[in-house]
Order: sequence, then structure tokens, then C-alpha cells
Amino acid sequence: MKNLSVTERLALNRYVTDDAESHITVNQDIARATGTDELLIACCAAHVYSRQPDGTIGVEFAACLECGTCLAIAAPGALTWHYPRGGMGIAYREG
Ligand code: SF4
Repeated sequence: MKNLSVTERLALNRYVTDDAESHITVNQDIARATGTDELLIACCAAHVYSRQPDGTIGVEFAACLECGTCLAIAAPGALTWHYPRGGMGIAYREG
């Protein structure tokens, strides 16, 4: 069996995007006031969070790996996160 890099393993994943509803919502005011905005950008391995030109935090929720790290580090009220609706989100094929 061939050893795969992390990038190669992630490329095997299958994503079903919920176009009707994001499973992640950032409360911009609380995130900015508590410094959670910078933590979100720094912590997410999938680069879901990014600083937008207007200073807010953008959320590319379709790329979420559902690891829960952002939920663990966010200040209370700064982030609303739940698993995508049934059958949607990420399906891991390796490990
Ligand atoms: S659950 Fe993990 S992959 Fe998804 S947005 Fe949070 S840190 Fe990123």
C-alpha cells in the first residue's frame, strides 16, 4: 500500500455542499471584540476563515473538515457551528 501525503489523503475526501444553509456563522462584532477573528484564521487547517477587504471574517464553509477546532477556541457567542444537515458535509475515505 502506497504511503500518501496529507494533501493526497485530503484530496480523496468527498464533499456534499449544502447550498441552502451554512453550518457555520460568525458573529462579527463578538469575534472582533474578543480576538476570536484572528484565532479562527490561524486555527483552521482547511482555511475556511479569511479576512475580507471590509475587515470582516469570510467563511468558506464548503471546505470544512468538521474537526471542531474553531468551535473549541472561539469565545462564547462568537461562532455558531453545527454539523451539516444529514448526508451533507465531508465524507472521509482514508483513515
Ligand atoms: S471545524 Fe475544523 S475545518 Fe471546519 S471550520 Fe472549524 S477548524 Fe476549520
